Amino acid sequence: MRTIGMLGGMSWESTAEYYRLANVLVRERLGGVHSARVLLDSLDFADVETLQSTDRWEEAGALLADRAQRLERAGAELLLLCTNTMHKVVDVVEAAVKVPVLHIADAAAERVRHAGLGRVGLLGTAFTMEQNFYRERLARHGIEVLVPGADDRATVHRVIYDELVRGIVSETSRAAYADVIGRLVADGAEGIVLGCTEIELLVSADDSPVPVFATTRIHVETAVERALARTD
Ligand code: GLU
Repeated sequence: MRTIGMLGGMSWESTAEYYRLANVLVRERLGGVHSARVLLDSLDFADVETLQSTDRWEEAGALLADRAQRLERAGAELLLLCTNTMHKVVDVVEAAVKVPVLHIADAAAERVRHAGLGRVGLLGTAFTMEQNFYRERLARHGIEVLVPGADDRATVHRVIYDELVRGIVSETSRAAYADVIGRLVADGAEGIVLGCTEIELLVSADDSPVPVFATTRIHVETAVERALARTD
């Protein structure tokens, strides 16, 4: 089994889920008391959030590249950036290490294609929904991406930063997300990519009339499959 390096803390609310799911999946696959080999570097999200909100992406890339190198030196054999948004700087991280960095949008896109879908609605932070880095990555797989309208994007973004990364899961926000999903489906979305690692703490398949693609779970499943491809 390979050692999975997790670059987490963005936020820890979803990183905890990465760690839990990796262990659950390895136990399911190998049985007994098997568990995942994981190295976790958990950043202080306040540092990262400051860099995001002040548009200092170069510094953010340098920070994550440095932490990725530490994980590699410590023995990580594949890396996960446990956030969709910070994939904005994935190229810098990839260039800093020799081990593979499993891209969260590639993992999600493979599932969307596997489900036979070609057009999805994307929920995530404003960075993820409005900038090109994530939508373009999905588009590479032949997937058409719809994003919510401006008011809905503001709601989705606000719930992430004011609630989900702070551990607040509210019924009101779940209903608001379900409404946003309904409007994306009315616009033609055949599936919904939960493109923020905290959203699946709030929203499930029950909140959507079309399939949802939960990126934390999909990312971990992809990593565990890769980790278990080596049997020593
Ligand atoms: N975890 C979130 C994501 O997947 C948002 C927090 C962050 O900006 O890193 O995009």
